[in-house]
Amino acid sequence: MSNNAPYSFFKSVEKSFDKASKFTNWENGLLEQIKACNSVYSMRFPVKMDDGRIEVIEAYRVQHSQHKSPCKGGIRFSEEVNQDEVMALASLMTYKCAIVNVPFGGGKGGIKINPREHSTYELEKITRRYTAELVKKNFIGPGIDVPAPDYGTGEREMAWIVDTYASLKPGEIDAAGCVTGKPITQGGVRGRKEATGLGVFFGIREVCNMKEEMEKRGLTVGVAGKTVVVQGLGNVGYHSAKFFREHGSKVIAIAEFEGAIFNAEGLNEEEVFQHRKKTGSILNFPGATNITKSTDALELACDILIPAALENVINGENAPRVQAKIIGEAANGPLTPEADDIFAAKGTLVVPDMYLNAGGVTVSYFEWLKNLSHVRYGRMEKRFTENLNTHILSQIEELTGKTVSAAERGFIMHGPEEVDLVHSGLEETMITATREIMQIWKDNPSIPDMRTAAYVCAINKVGTSYAELGIFP
Ligand code: NAD
Repeated sequence: MSNNAPYSFFKSVEKSFDKASKFTNWENGLLEQIKACNSVYSMRFPVKMDDGRIEVIEAYRVQHSQHKSPCKGGIRFSEEVNQDEVMALASLMTYKCAIVNVPFGGGKGGIKINPREHSTYELEKITRRYTAELVKKNFIGPGIDVPAPDYGTGEREMAWIVDTYASLKPGEIDAAGCVTGKPITQGGVRGRKEATGLGVFFGIREVCNMKEEMEKRGLTVGVAGKTVVVQGLGNVGYHSAKFFREHGSKVIAIAEFEGAIFNAEGLNEEEVFQHRKKTGSILNFPGATNITKSTDALELACDILIPAALENVINGENAPRVQAKIIGEAANGPLTPEADDIFAAKGTLVVPDMYLNAGGVTVSYFEWLKNLSHVRYGRMEKRFTENLNTHILSQIEELTGKTVSAAERGFIMHGPEEVDLVHSGLEETMITATREIMQIWKDNPSIPDMRTAAYVCAINKVGTSYAELGIFP
């Protein structure tokens, strides 16, 4: 929401919550507590800019819920940042973490700046001062509140945060766990970059493996052979496209803001990415047809549509023309509530953002666990597993008198690296979450869509948590 927007983003989250809470049995008071933002820290601090001018920076950190500790959620650098938006995003984090069984409460932070208008040195000063303000008020720490990257921030900012935190808390052995999304050398985890796109793929693949859901929409089971359209070739869109292609789907169109391209035989995201890097545009990709009006790609006949760019791109106006049978919300909020109603009536399966793009926070959880355990994933078991597998294989070969191929040998003997364990933990997380939400929907057919079922799932988990904790004192 921009500051001038006539509606409140937080209120719209509350509206979706209220719609779903009707399908739960919690008393009103408890529902009110789940919805409420527990702690809102609004701050102003001065930073001296490169030209000697002092600028007063507006920033926020919101802890929506401490039903589990720590709180978790990204920090956004944007001119659009405002308290209402940070509160809404923090509450969505509570629900997202609950659905994917990541034991954190929801949090979110924001600094109201345009990062492109500041030098690297100014950004570093702003980030470090913001971190110091969080430390002063006890709003950051491995057991309190753990930020992560979001719009306008990345590894670099996370490295500044951990460094500032560690210097203000000398000797705190778990200091690296105060923030996630760090560079590997500063305690980051392998597999973070592709996590959201891979999570999107795992979630959609699980839905495509549900025979009943596919039959309802006249589709075959599995992702292989399915046609996919992806909007946005950024981090999430690129990796979603990559994993669909690697598992036998055909990515027939990719849309960017300058236009879209189509090839019925399928596109290779890396080749398209290199072409765009070289020519400055996705258009005129060899072998593909140009679609000059980018949003037309959303209306192509396809099995799966993955909006992975912006919010509100599918609305009451274009939703009736969208032909996809399954829509995977990789971006945050790509569909408006009007679009939701249209798709529910059409029988289009909308797999909601709230859990489908939870790969980032899931892998952040793995990073935090790694920081607390002070050991790289795979370090303890990799060699042991390889030795054991080698032994088992040689025994089988000896007993059968046959030898396996070199490729099979490599696969069987391979002991897990950090990235293997992170991917497998993410796969397990997304499969379980998809099944849980689908089961809730199946158990109560009056739930109108998968988004509402996801909210019901979140409300029940957070509700159980609060109910078991009791109200203090
Ligand atoms: P990104 O900036 O890497 O990529 C976004 C891409 O969308 C860019 O390539 C941009 O050029 C393109 N784009 C912009 N306007 C467009 C338009 N009008 N039509 C088509 N393409 C357009 O961002 P990202 O990290 O990939 O995030 C994409 C979405 O996914 C956002 O909604 C974000 O909030 C959400 N998300 C990201 C993560 C993550 O881990 N990165 C996690 C959860 C949710």
